[in-house]
Amino acid sequence: MSSDTQPVSIREARNNILAEIGDGVTLIAASKRQLDARIEAALAAGQRVFGENRVQEAQQRWTDRLAEHPDLELRLIGPLQTNKAEDAVQLFQTIETLDREKLLRALIKAVEKTDAAAPDLYIQVNTGDEPQKGGVGVAALTDLIAATRETYPGRLVGLMCIPPADEPAAPHFALLKQLADTHDLPQVSMGMSGDYALAARLGATHVRVGTALFGARET
Ligand SMILES: *Cc1c(COP(=O)(O)O)cnc(C)c1O
Repeated sequence: MSSDTQPVSIREARNNILAEIGDGVTLIAASKRQLDARIEAALAAGQRVFGENRVQEAQQRWTDRLAEHPDLELRLIGPLQTNKAEDAVQLFQTIETLDREKLLRALIKAVEKTDAAAPDLYIQVNTGDEPQKGGVGVAALTDLIAATRETYPGRLVGLMCIPPADEPAAPHFALLKQLADTHDLPQVSMGMSGDYALAARLGATHVRVGTALFGARET
């Protein structure tokens, strides 16, 4: 696709996704490994909420653009190492992948040290209890919620999940929504290109969409 037709198609894709998810749900544009022209097309279409997986890639993509678009909202949706916490709190308004107390402590220290605004936090829940996947297991969630609320008052706003790739997503979405309700957390981040409409029906407040919005990623 040539670069002069790309903006139109990203605009159309975005409009279609917005129509499907409805007014109450926020579209997070998952922008990892997307070409600059496509990022610009999404911005031109009015997209302002973006999710990134890696701190360094996000710095490269957004540092200059933030000066131009002060209304951007950047969200970390990939795993975070404690040694990147300072960079993360300076770039992201929201961190969706809190999954252990050690990271919680690193984030608090990073906010104090950098004087950055304290980000909103989501806890990532490993709803499928997959060994290699990020996120806290369902059994340990209650303790992590309590620790977060105690040490980081007012900043825990929601839960996030990435269901196992080889299972139907609906039971995982339903579980995440139920856990959020149980713990009085208003925001639920779930659903990607293949299942964002389903996630929205099952209670997502935020969907994270990459390829269905931008097209295939660079390898
Ligand atoms: C890449 C990514 C997405 C978007 O994936 P698509 O299938 O391209 O929509 C959503 N959430 C997370 C955590 C991701 O890493």
